[in-house]
Amino acid sequence: TFKAIVVTKDDGGTRAAYADFDEAELMDGDVTVRVTHSTLNYKDGLAITGRAPVVRRFPMIPGIDFAGTVEESRHPDFAPGDAVVLNGWGAGETHLGAYGEKARVKGDWLIPLPQGLTAAEAMAIGTAGYTAMLAVLALERHGLSPADGPAVVTGAAGGVGSVAIALLAKAGWHVVASTGRTQETGYLEGLGAAEVIDRSELAGPVRPLAKERWSAGIDSVGSTTLANVLSMTRYHGAIAACGLAGGMDLPSSVAPFILRGVALLGVDSVYCPKPRRLEAWARMARDLDRAKLAAMTTTIPFERVIDVAPDILAGKVRGRIVVDMG
Ligand code: NAP
Repeated sequence: TFKAIVVTKDDGGTRAAYADFDEAELMDGDVTVRVTHSTLNYKDGLAITGRAPVVRRFPMIPGIDFAGTVEESRHPDFAPGDAVVLNGWGAGETHLGAYGEKARVKGDWLIPLPQGLTAAEAMAIGTAGYTAMLAVLALERHGLSPADGPAVVTGAAGGVGSVAIALLAKAGWHVVASTGRTQETGYLEGLGAAEVIDRSELAGPVRPLAKERWSAGIDSVGSTTLANVLSMTRYHGAIAACGLAGGMDLPSSVAPFILRGVALLGVDSVYCPKPRRLEAWARMARDLDRAKLAAMTTTIPFERVIDVAPDILAGKVRGRIVVDMG
């Protein structure tokens, strides 16, 4: 057996608890990994608290991403001792995930630990950071560059937001950070924000078109926030939508799209094809300032994950959390 967080379900709903998990109960996969680090993402908070139906199989070991060392492999690309990283592919949702000392997964889901990153740094980035990178790549593929105007980042003090600011600033963008925690202005400027605005500016009634403020954006909030961001986007700008921390709805109109040629770019990290993952991780290993990454990271022991999970849903977590599996 090994130690894990296990989510079970009964008539009263779902429940997460630390338990000893029988290795024989691990699901099919051609690579077995000793997990050394994981992280707490927004989705992990949802899975542990049961606030949204993230978990699709019971019992489940939650945790959507990990870094670790290969113990056994029948996959041609991986051998015992290899350092690997996993994000998504249903880990912690449909396949037993990261919050256990061991994980058995498909080798096709794994990528080698990117050169120049430690396992702890890879999880400081984690799914949130890798998603921020996918969003930056989407904006660039759309043809946008810092010469086009400012870029807005919503949910700025969260995980996706913090990494997005650092990456955009490194690429030369004038970053406008929108946060509900203006007391974190110093933190956000340290990551590279040129301006910090109160998120209440993006929470009011949505007009079809409003004064043009930015050409690009990375949104992890959704709902009214994203609708306002779109109505404030300059002619031919684009916004990458990656989250729903403020809600799943989008009370927008077609006005920004048909009158300003604005584009809404969808970002999914879970089933993102491998070549794009490798591109995102390589770019982060190259571009993400390690001092900024350290400044946005808090490390907690595995034993504290269940306690801290509600905090991320309450918007109380600043930046990123690394889980040291011990
Ligand atoms: P996080 O660390 O909790 O960041 C979310 C941030 O959003 C909070 O820190 C807060 O920032 C802001 N926020 C929270 N509640 C809000 C509300 N009611 N109204 C307005 N703003 C609010 O979470 P994360 O791990 O970065 O994830 C962010 C979002 O992206 C989540 O919805 C997550 O599910 C999604 N996500 C999607 C993908 C994908 O594949 N598409 C991948 C990763 C994450 P401030 O305090 O600065 O305002």
